[in-house]
Order: sequence, then C-alpha cells, then structure tokens
Amino acid sequence: MKRLLAIVTAAAAVSAVAAAPASAGHAWGSYHWATASNPFIVGLDNNLTTLGWQQLGKSSSMDWSASVVLDAVLTDPKGDNKRCKASGGRVEVCNGKYGRNGWLGLAQIWLSGSHITEATAKMNDTYLASSSYNDVNRQHVLCQEVGHTFGLGHQDESGADLNTCMDYAKTLDNPIPDAHDYEQLELIYNHGGESSTLATTSASTTTGMAGRPDARPYRAERNDHANHTEIVEQFADGSKRITDVIWADGPRPVVDRG
Ligand SMILES: [Zn+2]
Ligand SMILES: [Zn+2]
Repeated sequence: MKRLLAIVTAAAAVSAVAAAPASAGHAWGSYHWATASNPFIVGLDNNLTTLGWQQLGKSSSMDWSASVVLDAVLTDPKGDNKRCKASGGRVEVCNGKYGRNGWLGLAQIWLSGSHITEATAKMNDTYLASSSYNDVNRQHVLCQEVGHTFGLGHQDESGADLNTCMDYAKTLDNPIPDAHDYEQLELIYNHGGESSTLATTSASTTTGMAGRPDARPYRAERNDHANHTEIVEQFADGSKRITDVIWADGPRPVVDRG
C-alpha cells in the first residue's frame, strides 16, 4: 500500500541551507557511511531494467570509482525491483515508471546518527524514458542520485550550469562528477577507523526503526528549495530517513515515498 506524505506548509519549512561556495563545500549534512579505511567499496545493487540504463549505471559507477576514497561496484543486473526496497549496507539503484508524480529522481538515505546504513537511488521512467530526455539527461539524474548516496549534496541549487552532475543545470547536461565532487568525498571520508556500515557482498541487517517498512516517523519535515525538495523523517529510536527529490518541470505534488 502506498503512503503519501502530507505536505508540510512551506512556511514551516525554513531552509537552513546556505549558498554553496564554488570550491568543495557541498557535503549533504554530515551524512556518510561509517568506514574502517580508504578506499572502501560501496556495493551498488543493479536493479536497472533496460540495457540503456545498465550502460548509464556502469558509466556512473566507473565515474564515481575514480574517487581515491571509494570504489562503487555495480552488481550484475538483478532484475526488477521497482519498489527499490533498501537493503542494509548497500545502495539500490532502480528505474521504473513511477508515475506522473512530478519527480525525475529520488535519493534516499537511512541514518543512524550521521552514519548512512542503507540507501536507494531511483529514476522515474514515466518522464525519463520519453523522447523529451536523452541519455545525457538520464545519466545526469542517475549520477546525482548515486552521488547523494555517498553523502554528497548539490554544488549549486540555483539552476546554474557548473558542469557537474551535482548541480541543477536546467539542461540536465552534465553526466559526470567534477573535481570538486572528488575533493568533497575526500573531505567527507578523511577519518575512517569506524565499524563499517557498508556491506560489500550481501546485505547486512539494518539497525534502526527507519529501516523497517512498518515503522512510522514521529516527525516528517518537507523543505522545498528552488529546484529540489528534501524530506527528513525522524523515528522514535533516533534513526532517520532523508529523501532528496529532483523535480521535473511543473507542479510539485506530494511525494510518494513507497
Ligand atoms: Zn563516521
Ligand atoms: Zn539532488
């Protein structure tokens, strides 16, 4: 059964996000995977359903793996997981016709403290599979959603074209990360020595209420920005789920979190 998150009034949603500087300063909050050492492996589960998406997924995993701190390893195709059910310690990468709900892509991270415990990246074929979009546009979205699952935010949210997939260029014409993104990853993952929340081979058991499908958040807050929306859901045990939405042009209805 699908659950819809009611819109929290924009008035209540005060943005605390400052304008991003041109140099690397675009971490997504303080969110990161707990890691023992660098470089670490992030397992990307390949739920991509078409050859086209699989090629884009492969390209993006290689692009992100150019980072000195991480290797993003895309699995062989796993078949359809349109719901994109999260699995502990891993990133699920999915595409599907998610409907005319207004969003092109969604990134979700589950958190214990500031540590990411699982993540998903979804691309909405209802829009992206149409002839209004090409592979460069599709890869821009995929690259950004996967980038979020590592703890990266946007370099810019104004719509300016910064030649990175972590921007909001209206033209969606930046399929790859840039040097600032790699630099930011190094800044985020400069500590190590932690008990890793990553699962490099198969899924680990997720700790935290946020990872349980039946759990309800006690608090949900929606922050609308110029080109994207962030939703923060808090659970009674302190765990959280955070969703970042990249919008297609047009109205912004409620977000299907299902
Ligand atoms: Zn840490
Ligand atoms: Zn985004």
